[in-house]
Amino acid sequence: MSTAVITIDGPSGSGKGTIAGLLATRLGWNLLDSGALYRLLALSASNHSVDLTNEEGLKALAAHLDVQFVAGAPGQEQLIILEGEEVTQAIRNEQVGSGASQVAALPAVRDALLHRQRAFLEAPGLVADGRDMGTVVFPDAPLKIFLTASVEERAQRRYLQLKEKGDAVILASLLDEIRARDERDTQRAVAPLKPAADAILLDSTQLSIEQVLERILGEVAARE
Ligand code: C5P
Repeated sequence: MSTAVITIDGPSGSGKGTIAGLLATRLGWNLLDSGALYRLLALSASNHSVDLTNEEGLKALAAHLDVQFVAGAPGQEQLIILEGEEVTQAIRNEQVGSGASQVAALPAVRDALLHRQRAFLEAPGLVADGRDMGTVVFPDAPLKIFLTASVEERAQRRYLQLKEKGDAVILASLLDEIRARDERDTQRAVAPLKPAADAILLDSTQLSIEQVLERILGEVAARE
């Protein structure tokens, strides 16, 4: 590939985070979990009592977000440190996710985070997951995947994930939250969630993680 970047975009719960992590490990490439940046900003806003509608305040926070991504052991999730505190799990709850999707709708916030996202592109390559990786952040990526799954399947996957962690969750409310987040992400004016014109659409509703991974690795091999 000319520029070693693979973008994986799609709605919440489509499995893109898991797939991106596995793909980066298999290829030995870097990983950008762009959703984590929006989640971290939402958490930082809450820590500093900055209102989620205060675009200027959020822009300033985004520009100076003190965050580190520390690679985990092989097969392990990367650790995320915000302002000196480990928040790897703390940013994964639905409340932070919902805050993330609110701050992500603000143009000044997206702009402030653009450069930081592009800085992840280092040799030997990058797997970038999010909503606008293929459309806005890395529009020249030679391989773009748009990963979807039915909303019911996505809610079910999220439900099992949260239950496994011991969180008290109700499937019906998760379904509502995911629908609301989809609505906000696809309808917003800036960088709405949509496949890039040259993206490969992959519906994972009936596919296992391994099957999705193999499909993408097949596309990588075809480009070598
Ligand atoms: O992917 P994840 O669920 O962690 O993302 C949290 C929220 O951040 C999404 O609902 C979306 O609103 C926002 N986001 C975004 N652009 C990205 C990644 C995430 O707007 N590239």
